[in-house]
Amino acid sequence: MARVTGPVCKLCRREGMKLFLKGERCFTPKCAVDPNRRPYPPGQAATARRRKVSEYGTQLREKQKARRVYGVLERQFRRHFAEAERRTGATGENLLRILEMRLDNVVFRLGFADSRAQARQLVTHGHFTVNARKVDIPSVEVKVGESIAVSERSRKLEYFKALAEYLNRKSVPGWLSLDAVRMSGRVLTAPAREEIDATIQEQLIVEFYSR
Ligand code: SF4
Repeated sequence: MARVTGPVCKLCRREGMKLFLKGERCFTPKCAVDPNRRPYPPGQAATARRRKVSEYGTQLREKQKARRVYGVLERQFRRHFAEAERRTGATGENLLRILEMRLDNVVFRLGFADSRAQARQLVTHGHFTVNARKVDIPSVEVKVGESIAVSERSRKLEYFKALAEYLNRKSVPGWLSLDAVRMSGRVLTAPAREEIDATIQEQLIVEFYSR
């Protein structure tokens, strides 16, 4: 299954900001985004001068940032964008909503995984059900009212047993609810723009694809 591979910390350095792609490590001094360490993008000498970024460059970077935050490859991202355009309402917000409601992102938001990459792997390995039916496709868009749960069988695994304690303390976004005991969550409503805590300027992405 197509996924982002390679050293992910480079992606953060490329965007010049933390994208939180590695879970816990992102909150430690080991994080590669430290202005005191290497305050320049990968692949460039420390002495490289910063060039003025064009309008196209700014839009491209924003699109790449969004792709990287959600761990989506270009083709899939374009598909999400086409769907966002097809729906009524602001295309940029629609796009962010579609990305947020991907199954892998919901699993991450519910606290079942440390990062979206890990959530994606757990979904692919068949550890989750949506409305009591096994779903192993990370890009599936969950709908309002649907319940997402760790499968009965997977709950016996050490990973999920260890997670139980953490889930008790986990707070989830207002558009989701979490039942830590049953290891399940529900989509209460579609997320509003202000509930999507991604620092993404979606309008730049719309402009990028509208060129
Ligand atoms: Fe990005 Fe996390 Fe790596 Fe820091 S540790 S550079 S936030 S992926």
